[in-house]
Amino acid sequence: MAKIFCVANQKGGVGKTTTTVNLAAGLTKVGKRVLMVDLDPQGNATMGSNIDKRNMKLTVYDVLLESASIKETKIRSELCGYDVLGANRELAGAEVELVHLERREMRLKKALRAVKDDYDFVLIDCPPSLSMLTLNGLCAANGVIVPMQCEYFALEGLTDLVNTIKQVHANLNKELSIIGLLRVMYDPRITLQVQVSNQLKDHFGNKVFDTVIPRNVRLAEAPSYGQPGVTFDPQAKGSQAYMEFATEMVKRII
Ligand code: ADP
Ligand code: MG
Repeated sequence: MAKIFCVANQKGGVGKTTTTVNLAAGLTKVGKRVLMVDLDPQGNATMGSNIDKRNMKLTVYDVLLESASIKETKIRSELCGYDVLGANRELAGAEVELVHLERREMRLKKALRAVKDDYDFVLIDCPPSLSMLTLNGLCAANGVIVPMQCEYFALEGLTDLVNTIKQVHANLNKELSIIGLLRVMYDPRITLQVQVSNQLKDHFGNKVFDTVIPRNVRLAEAPSYGQPGVTFDPQAKGSQAYMEFATEMVKRII
């Protein structure tokens, strides 16, 4: 049965999408069956998995509105080796359209039930907000992976997310917990980053993943080639770090 993880942080540009697609590619490379769900109307995780967001017959939007199943909607990324439940701008409308519907935060969870035996991992890329879309991700998930940069306001920014996760845990999804905080775009030459990294470990202990993802230009270049860094340039430092992260995730989960 698939383990379902949300990659979430209400801040934009912190490495959610990069983490989602590289972890998906990394888990695929170690032999796991992966479904990547794009819950961000920007569709970056879709494009970054070699699927053209402008050319999809069905998207995660249709799944949330229950006009299509995941089996019908998913697209195989031949290049990346995993399945993609894609998103594009259309998904922005779902927020409004879901408002009047019952159990609107449970739509993704319900849809995933039908495919949970087809995968080892489902990874959900969340938008940079604590919206109805993110709530669907959190309700469907067993756990949350939180990518974060080791910057001055990092801990402060975490409070809202941690509170939301607590509320979802209390009211909607008893299984939900933070799997771990992933330090990304890390540069050990910057003293402040080392300090914040140490603070994170003091504060969150083993909830901080051992793996650290360095700042690496190849990871930033890969999306323009429609791929995760892990497939685009497996030798790059950043790609190797994401491979290490995939291995750490597998160990933590079993
Ligand atoms: P989010 O999904 O949280 O908005 P992204 O994953 O899109 O964040 O990352 C924001 C930007 O930072 C992107 O341009 C991405 O290519 C770049 N980036 C992400 N991780 C790294 C890294 N480890 N090294 C260098 N650039 C990175
Ligand atoms: Mg993103």
